[in-house]
Amino acid sequence: MSSARLRCIGLLGGTFSPIHFGHLRPALDIVEQLDLDEVRIIPAKLPPLRDKPCVDAAHRLTMVKLAIQSEPHFVLDSREFQRTDTSYTVDTVLSLRKELGESVSLYWIMGMDAYQNFTRWHQWQTILKLCHLVVAQRPNYSPAKNDPLKIYHRQNQADLLQTPAGYIHFVNVTQLDISATMLRQYRKENRSLRYLLPNAVNNYINENDLYR
Ligand code: ATP
Repeated sequence: MSSARLRCIGLLGGTFSPIHFGHLRPALDIVEQLDLDEVRIIPAKLPPLRDKPCVDAAHRLTMVKLAIQSEPHFVLDSREFQRTDTSYTVDTVLSLRKELGESVSLYWIMGMDAYQNFTRWHQWQTILKLCHLVVAQRPNYSPAKNDPLKIYHRQNQADLLQTPAGYIHFVNVTQLDISATMLRQYRKENRSLRYLLPNAVNNYINENDLYR
C-alpha cells in the first residue's frame, strides 16, 4: 500500500532588508526540487540575534510583495508583523501548525549561514518537532565537519515527503553571492542595485530613497 503524499509548504523567514535574488532563486530551486505546493515568505518584524533593521517594517513588507507578485508559488505571510514582541521562529511555526493542521509537511528553509547558528535559536528542539529544516548552500559557507544535529539528517526525499516534521535536508541551489548587507553597502556608495534584485524592488528603493 503506498502512503499518500502530504501537502508540502516551505517557510522562508528573514529580515529581507532588502529582499534579493539570493533569497528568491534558491527558494524557487527548492520548490522545484522538493515539489513544494507553496513557499510562505515571512519577514521578521524584530529579528532575534541581530540589530533592529535600519528600514521600517512596512517598507520591507512592501518590497517582499513587489518581489513575489508574478510568482504563484510564493505567498507573503505577514504574521510576525501582527505581534509586538521579538519574532521567534518557534512562535511563528507554532501558529502555522495551528492554522494548517498536523497533516501538512512544513519545511523551514534557511541558508547554510543561518543553519550554523541554529542551535542558538530559541527552542530549536521544538522547531524541529514542528517542521523539517531545508538547508541551502550559500557561497562562502561550508557545512560543519562535526554537525551536532547529524542524527536528524535525511537526504532521501521520500522520508521528508511522508512526514510532517523532524528532519534536516540539504539542497544544492543556484549559488548567488548576494547579501542584503552587500546591497545596503552598494547604496551607501551610490552604486546601482540593478540585476541583483527584482526591478520593482529596485525602483521602490530608489523612489523612497532607502538605505542612503
Ligand atoms: P543580511 O546581509 O542583512 O544578514 P541576508 O542577505 O543574509 O541579510 P536574510 O534576510 O538575513 O538575508 O536571510 C534570510 C534567509 O535567506 C536566511 O536563511 C539566509 O541564510 C538566506 N539567504 C540569504 N541570502 C542568501 C543567498 N545568497 N544564498 C542562499 N541563502 C541566502
